[in-house]
Amino acid sequence: MIKNLLIRSASNIKPFECVQLSYLTTARASKAVSKPRLYAEVNAQMPKSYSDYHEYEYKLGNSDDYEITGKLGRGKYSEVFEGFNVLNGDRVVIKMLKPVKPEKIKRELKILETLKGGPNIVTLQDVVRPIGQKMSPTYVLEYLENHDFRWLYPRLSDLEVRYYMFEILKALDYAHSKGIMHRDIKPQNVMINSFTKRLKLIDWGLAEFYHVGQAYNVRVASRCFKGPELLVDDEYYDYSLDVWSLGAMFAGIIFKKEPFFKGESNEDQLVKILDVLGTDKLQNYLIKYKLKLSSRYRGLIHERKEVPWSSFVNRENSHLANPEAIDLLSKMLVFDKADRILPKEAMGHTYFDPVRQKTASELFIEKK
Ligand code: AMP
Repeated sequence: MIKNLLIRSASNIKPFECVQLSYLTTARASKAVSKPRLYAEVNAQMPKSYSDYHEYEYKLGNSDDYEITGKLGRGKYSEVFEGFNVLNGDRVVIKMLKPVKPEKIKRELKILETLKGGPNIVTLQDVVRPIGQKMSPTYVLEYLENHDFRWLYPRLSDLEVRYYMFEILKALDYAHSKGIMHRDIKPQNVMINSFTKRLKLIDWGLAEFYHVGQAYNVRVASRCFKGPELLVDDEYYDYSLDVWSLGAMFAGIIFKKEPFFKGESNEDQLVKILDVLGTDKLQNYLIKYKLKLSSRYRGLIHERKEVPWSSFVNRENSHLANPEAIDLLSKMLVFDKADRILPKEAMGHTYFDPVRQKTASELFIEKK
């Protein structure tokens, strides 16, 4: 039973000329805020209670209804177990939270509740509080059969990549249409069952409701999937952060280089992005949004030219990194958050022509 389980605590190096040293200070000029092209006002148009999770009251179920059978993984904020519902035998995932702020729990639960039933979004089934653990509740989620991405991604066909990308975009467009940004898109949070072709987005622990003009914490997303806005301390980001993270994931898959941007630190992460996109983009961004680059970048950034995406294509990846994939990628990995393609727009891209409006069985199973 859950109550018996304890949480074990939870080269052309040249001094960078475009961005002069005057930019390299921690001070910040007056802000410039952009607005997403879609879904900007979703939360503003709903009653306050829709997005104000501080007041959210969740009902607690009975922890005796669940039995743990094994451990699945451990995250920064939780330990995840496999188990089953003793009342109906259903397999479940039991996510025990380490001590975290009650506000963070309310936010995740409110978001899971808001997104319940949406396409490709993990379903929260229950919330329980095991005896002996006063602080944090435990989530009971639907169990998702999953193949590890390190095994799966190198084996994906072109059609499968298109199909799974489309399924992720469906989930993102839905979340954004409900006023929610995920803020932690990465392979570990995309559960894929390659037999049934079922895909779901998990871990909404960093997700947030979006409000125009609200400053958000830039310490979100995992390093290799952080958008440039986070790395330059631009707190006025929006849904398009998820598009960057998904783009970084997509680049890893189609070029067979996972992760594609592999920074050794947050500072190095920006350097890795600039090595590909070029430093002009950074300069334009800082000017447009009236930002000053933190002094922690001093001496790290050197002028770079943009590298064409086609230069990453090789014999091993050319079947995945085809011209349509590269065109879509180039619209996702755009430095300026306001110019990135939106999930809804991306779903209309020609890359998805073979999979749009087709079910997994039409695409894959009937062919066998
Ligand atoms: P999380 O802390 O939610 O990212 O979960 C940590 C790990 O547990 C994930 O990377 C998955 O391997 C596994 N996991 C989480 N949720 C589920 C689920 N609903 N079904 C199956 N495995 C899961």
